[in-house]
Amino acid sequence: MLEPLIYDLSSPGRTGVTMPEPDVPRFDFPADLLRDDLPLPEVSQIDVTRHFTRLSRLNMAIDTTMYPLGSCTMKYNPRVNEDVARMAGFAHAHPLQDPVTVQGALYLMYQLQEFLKEIGGFAGVSLQPAAGAQGEFTGILIMRAYHRARGDHKRVKMLIPDSAHGTNPASSAMAGLKVVELPSDARGNVDLDALKASLDDTVCGLMITNPNTLGMFEEHIEEVVKAVHAAGGLVYGDGANMNALLGIAKPGEIGFDVMHYNLHKTFSTPHGGGGPGSGPVAVARHLVDFLPGPIVRPTPGSEKDAEGVPLYEWFTPRHSIGRMRAFWGNFGMLARAYTYIRVHGEEGLRAVSKHAVLNANYVQARIRHVYPVPHGERHCMHEVIAQGKLAGAPDVRALDIAKRLMDYGFHPPTNYFPLIVPEALMIEPTETESKQTLDEFVDALLAIAEEARQSPELLKSAPHTAPLKRLDEVKAAKDLVLCCRVG
Ligand SMILES: *Cc1c(COP(=O)(O)O)cnc(C)c1O
Repeated sequence: MLEPLIYDLSSPGRTGVTMPEPDVPRFDFPADLLRDDLPLPEVSQIDVTRHFTRLSRLNMAIDTTMYPLGSCTMKYNPRVNEDVARMAGFAHAHPLQDPVTVQGALYLMYQLQEFLKEIGGFAGVSLQPAAGAQGEFTGILIMRAYHRARGDHKRVKMLIPDSAHGTNPASSAMAGLKVVELPSDARGNVDLDALKASLDDTVCGLMITNPNTLGMFEEHIEEVVKAVHAAGGLVYGDGANMNALLGIAKPGEIGFDVMHYNLHKTFSTPHGGGGPGSGPVAVARHLVDFLPGPIVRPTPGSEKDAEGVPLYEWFTPRHSIGRMRAFWGNFGMLARAYTYIRVHGEEGLRAVSKHAVLNANYVQARIRHVYPVPHGERHCMHEVIAQGKLAGAPDVRALDIAKRLMDYGFHPPTNYFPLIVPEALMIEPTETESKQTLDEFVDALLAIAEEARQSPELLKSAPHTAPLKRLDEVKAAKDLVLCCRVG
């Protein structure tokens, strides 16, 4: 069943608002500026409210449904974050305001930079990038600038494991580098021999995700880092998956040179539907001078002569790669992430990661005898990668299982990623789901496996409860119909 269009609710002469009498002289527009060919729906307030509330409920959302979309960390977005982001002093600040008048906002950004340095074990942070992928691109430009500043112009290759997120090779290619793919070994780690065989003086660096997108902690990460450094390369960490590591391991201390965070994953700022996101970049000591500016620092000397001297100021590092976006980053997201970190504190953040890992392992332990888990002999980290290949149901695919989950009231997990796992179902429960919800989700998966054997057509034709059934997803993405008049 399709929802009525707002135009179908239109009734001539009905209005939603009453305009006050103008208190300025009326102005008659020239006739050639007016048009009759713009029919707008004539609806009352309650028509509009009901219409859009109904539409909003057609979506599966984290506020209504467990949303185990692997690698995307769809955790609950605490409402206190929203309160802070909406504080009038933050929400109404203008990006061109004199820094003296927005010292609170600068303080928040400075503190967030410091928190992110501490959490990852890095020496400097820029909050500029507006997404994880833009953080990657930023980090790669920094790596490139570092090599060039040393007169080392031969380094044109980026090594990337085959389990990597698609944005990794894309960001590298955008920065003009040649991508070299590294295989994974039988235990789900990057293949050390293949890595060593690829290392030479043309390598800009290695882009690695740890835990990787197989949900595995790289068992030889220190050796990997050492080998890349020995060849003169740098190590980029894709930090989108920090939800497993908070307060437990610091990539900077493991030897990573650059890493981006996804505030809109690990630090609970809402995402989906295209943004806004935030992908701050953190770097080790030897790269701080290349960070994109402006970043916030305490004003030199401000402690001594506090009269009229701002405590915090913008500054751009000496060899900065430049700006990555207009103004100061997606400030609302920074306010939300700052609040999340402050509310949790050190122990709270550590508990987040411990519970995220525990929840994923609980799901793994309960489904592994039915759904193949390629590295099920190991503990997973924050996510478990299963396969939609069920004994006794040869025609059923991961997509069918994912769609059928919607009938049970769950958002589907990521499927067909990572690319190296056939029929992948990438399940990331996050720490914010209770044991009861995890059990309901697992029970649904087990029931679906039974259905797959008894009545596979039930899965093939799923979802049955959604307003639209199976869409041509490629066409829907490439040929998006945004207008509300169809056809
Ligand atoms: C989400 C994600 C990214 C990209 O982040 P965006 O904010 O979507 O650009 C990169 N790497 C991994 C592993 C991710 O999960």
